[in-house]
Amino acid sequence: MFKHLTLSPGVNVKLKDFDPGDTHGWEEADAKRELEELREKMEKLQDVFYASGKYALLIVLQAMDAGGKDGTVKHVMGGFNPSGCSVISFKAPSPEELSHDFLWRVHKAVPPRGHIGIFNRSHYEDVLVVRVLNLVPEKVWRERYDQINTFEKMLCENNVIVLKFFLHISKKEQADRFRDRLADPKKIWKFNPGDLEMREKWGDFMEAYDDVLERCTTAHAPWTIVPADVKWFRNLVVARRIVETVDALDLKYPPPAPGVEKIEIV
Ligand code: AMP
Ligand code: MG
Repeated sequence: MFKHLTLSPGVNVKLKDFDPGDTHGWEEADAKRELEELREKMEKLQDVFYASGKYALLIVLQAMDAGGKDGTVKHVMGGFNPSGCSVISFKAPSPEELSHDFLWRVHKAVPPRGHIGIFNRSHYEDVLVVRVLNLVPEKVWRERYDQINTFEKMLCENNVIVLKFFLHISKKEQADRFRDRLADPKKIWKFNPGDLEMREKWGDFMEAYDDVLERCTTAHAPWTIVPADVKWFRNLVVARRIVETVDALDLKYPPPAPGVEKIEIV
């Protein structure tokens, strides 16, 4: 379901053609009920995913500020058993990280087989904020699209499944969420005045996202554009894609060690 939200390689992407407020005719109560069911399925699927130890699952979350990355981790990924799941938030690189290639810190954070890793921001910042703020020369960031595709292909060939979600909010929804943060003593800590500078460059970010979505949608690791103004619909789209992907692997529990079936506990 929601198949057209997952892009096909080679397709021309213009985010302005995607409505961030879309809910595909879903009602809130139905979507929430469905999310509950999906979370139960995620729990079961994760158990066999861990036990079989065959694949790793890497979930990449990208969005503008207040786009709902933290909310998605909480409401969707909250269904996973924490012992087989990790969340890694990528901030501005440290001096040590900057002294390496941009994928160094990312590769280290890729989950091992049997595990699920969630990237809250990712290597894509190196062709997004880095591009928009001119943090490196254009020649450097331009070469990164191919480098990212090659890196993700290598991961895929090594049994890492890569799911990439762009949580697509409107500029108006971002303003509403910023206002909410400023008005709520429990949320105001999340407000970073620097976010307003990024907001002023909204158009540049959308262009940079168009390029990311178009150039880095490959057969092995396509992007999904998630309409994210409506939180319950966002959660539904992300949960569905995860469940459908893991379900399709048709994983089996490993066989018991030889002779174990005959053991009797007395
Ligand atoms: P937050 O996710 O709100 O905690 O903010 C993290 C900040 O780190 C954001 O402003 C990102 O744009 C920034 N950031 C993440 N990765 C990079 C990167 N590779 N280069 C520069 N800034 C980055
Ligand atoms: Mg922030």
